[in-house]
Amino acid sequence: MSRKVLVIGETRDGVLRNVTFEAIAAAKRISDGGEIVGLICTGSADTQLAEEMIHYGADRSILAENPKLETYTSEGFAQAAGQVIEQEKPDAIVMGHTAIGKDLTPKLAARYETGLISDVTELEESTDNVVFTRPIYSGKAFEKKIITDGLLFITIRPNNIPSLEKDSSRSGDVSVTEVEVADLRTVITDVIKKTADGVDLSEAKVIVAGGRGVKSKEGFDPLYDLAEVLGGAVGASRGACDADYCDYSLQIGQTGKVVTPDLYIACGISGAIQHLAGMSNSKVIVAINKDPEANIFNIADYGIVGDLFEIIPQLIEEIKQVKVNA
Ligand SMILES: Cc1cc2nc3c(=O)[nH]c(=O)nc-3n(C[C@H](O)[C@H](O)[C@H](O)COP(=O)(O)OP(=O)(O)OC[C@H]3O[C@@H](n4cnc5c(N)ncnc54)[C@H](O)[C@@H]3O)c2cc1C
Repeated sequence: MSRKVLVIGETRDGVLRNVTFEAIAAAKRISDGGEIVGLICTGSADTQLAEEMIHYGADRSILAENPKLETYTSEGFAQAAGQVIEQEKPDAIVMGHTAIGKDLTPKLAARYETGLISDVTELEESTDNVVFTRPIYSGKAFEKKIITDGLLFITIRPNNIPSLEKDSSRSGDVSVTEVEVADLRTVITDVIKKTADGVDLSEAKVIVAGGRGVKSKEGFDPLYDLAEVLGGAVGASRGACDADYCDYSLQIGQTGKVVTPDLYIACGISGAIQHLAGMSNSKVIVAINKDPEANIFNIADYGIVGDLFEIIPQLIEEIKQVKVNA
């Protein structure tokens, strides 16, 4: 059964987030040959972004424009997306399982009194009901879900469903719809950034994470150096954040960010269950810890027993060497 799928794109600092392209790839599989429509809610229409969604697999794109959509608010974006949903009447809506996706999709699904399957990591195409897989109990089990009736709302976890290859020669219709947005009850007056620019932690392919074993703010410097040579991002355990070695925005775990990079390097992290809840589904886990009994080794694919301050500089040197010889 072919389905029309609307993908709600997400931008950060004026560029589309990778998870948008992954959402298009998921939409393609859900659509069973149906049409994929990209949607960007925006304060000022940027057709380049809309075209980029087409290059990654959308058939056409809509820019829902209103100056009140300059910064994300659930109230404003729900009104804008709602108008496009009324106009397009899709069978399914896909978005990234990001802070915005987690906020916006339940609001819309509740309005249409229909099902939402969140945090999807895999899906099985089917002509009747697509089967969606999502982790539960902090990644200790997986459940498979279907929506039997009505509009499908899906959010996908970043880094799990590979995006399609970019094809800049793909073309499709880009339309600008001026949407009505009633006066917002909550207005964002300023956004104060806490982390430096760089690779976004929740979408990073490589994460170098530090724990209490890093011992100080300065102790994180070699981790930043390692992340840089690997093109990755730096994360942390709550132990490191509580000790004020780094900002809480880096925290990974049950009460922090959930990440699934290709490579996770845990440095001086013991492997408490609450930390594992945020990273145990990483594809390859490397642990560096001086305690051979540390729990992190129970889930690591590769373990290095030793002092992180001796091992990390050696790793950086080796990686640089490999890059020179490549
Ligand atoms: C409700 C609740 C929610 C929580 N949520 C989270 C969460 O989201 N994320 C999270 O991380 N934690 C969370 N915690 C805290 C969690 O229980 C642990 O306390 C925390 O993860 C420990 O951090 P750590 O591994 O950095 O520190 P520690 O447990 O102190 O481990 C430090 C490790 O560093 C090693 N080490 C020391 N020096 C070196 C060295 N030079 N070289 C190599 N290794 C060294 C040690 O052997 C040790 O294994 C939560 C706790 C509760 C109760």
